[in-house]
Amino acid sequence: MKVLVLNAGSSSLKYQLFNMESGKVTARGLCERIGAGGAITHKRPGADDFSEQIDLPHHGVALKRVLELLTSAEYGVIKSTSEIDAIGHRVAHGGELIKESSIITESVIKHLESLVPINPLHGPPAIAGIKACVELMPSTPQVAVFDTSFYSDIEDFRYVYPIPYEFYEKDHIRRYGFHGTSHRYVSAELAKAIGKPIEELKIVTCHLGNGSSITAVDGGKAIDTSMGFTPQEGIAMGTRSGSIDPSVVTYIMKTKGYTPEEMDDILNKKSGLLGVSGISNDCRNVYSAALNGDHRAELALKILTNGIKKHIGAYAAEMNGLDALAFTAGIGENQANIREWVCDNMDWLGIEIDKEKNENFTRGIPFDISAEGARVKTWIIPTDEEYMIAIDTQRIASKQN
Ligand code: AMP
Repeated sequence: MKVLVLNAGSSSLKYQLFNMESGKVTARGLCERIGAGGAITHKRPGADDFSEQIDLPHHGVALKRVLELLTSAEYGVIKSTSEIDAIGHRVAHGGELIKESSIITESVIKHLESLVPINPLHGPPAIAGIKACVELMPSTPQVAVFDTSFYSDIEDFRYVYPIPYEFYEKDHIRRYGFHGTSHRYVSAELAKAIGKPIEELKIVTCHLGNGSSITAVDGGKAIDTSMGFTPQEGIAMGTRSGSIDPSVVTYIMKTKGYTPEEMDDILNKKSGLLGVSGISNDCRNVYSAALNGDHRAELALKILTNGIKKHIGAYAAEMNGLDALAFTAGIGENQANIREWVCDNMDWLGIEIDKEKNENFTRGIPFDISAEGARVKTWIIPTDEEYMIAIDTQRIASKQN
């Protein structure tokens, strides 16, 4: 079975074509600057990359060009789009109604449209990608895989905010959680790596990238997570503030006269590592500045790592224990110093890492960095959201035939 996985952002479209028998990606690529020019990079293992500047006024045009590339004599990997058995879409928000990956129907599209007011950044491009596929490949089954669905079993006292209840009932303001596909994949891979059934494990997964979130997974089910109504809540991120006293927001708006849009911009694009360090949203740059003695860079990293520590401790308390900890995504998979700062002084909880293994880890595979005899197993687990989406798509599309 061949599955095309699509991940549409506001001005981008990432794609990967999976051969599910081998589990391998046969082609992948990225369309960028959709709606503002356009560029495509198309990659195949063992062949030269192909790049072009091309006008991409909307996601439909981008998808059409992707399908041309995938089937072209020169750059293609299949003869015809009819070889694509199913398409899997990454969808950030499934709202309260959709609790698991679903075959896309008219009513699913309508539901996604109804969520746009609470998902204004990620909803419209995902819907545009889905509609473009429906138009270009109407008979190919399409599956939506939601970032939020891993959290559909979270209990109400963990997702209802302590504000007047009607905001939850009438306006659906609650914790939804994001990055669920990554946390689901990483917790399952961690259990495999440790060699124990996930049902027997209490796990904390730390997805640390430009956007970051932490999830408590008890017996294979997510029971709590750091992101909330939006991907803004939780720990400090590249440019997002994460959780702060809500009165800071109203105070700044009142005293500076900022509009909601201006305030959103500050909290989403000018805060986090960038806001505190004044240097960069990229953790590598902030770390090199800290090494060179820049106080604000060091402060930004301490805020980040202390936030991660607090969540691990809180989730161990919520689960009444902790067996394993996973680090994933750009920072989690690559930055030994951040892992070390987080795990420092956590032996009371059973977390002890081997500094040597942490620094000399092998990239791209699950890697154990626990110290000898540590009660909690700490691993680096490379995430693969696209593969998880492909697996769900295969499972659900197969049932359609
Ligand atoms: P992501 O959003 O998962 O792509 O992660 C982006 C973050 O990961 C940035 O803050 C980078 O500093 C960090 N990162 C990505 N790749 C590397 C790498 N090879 N070495 C160190 N840090 C990295």
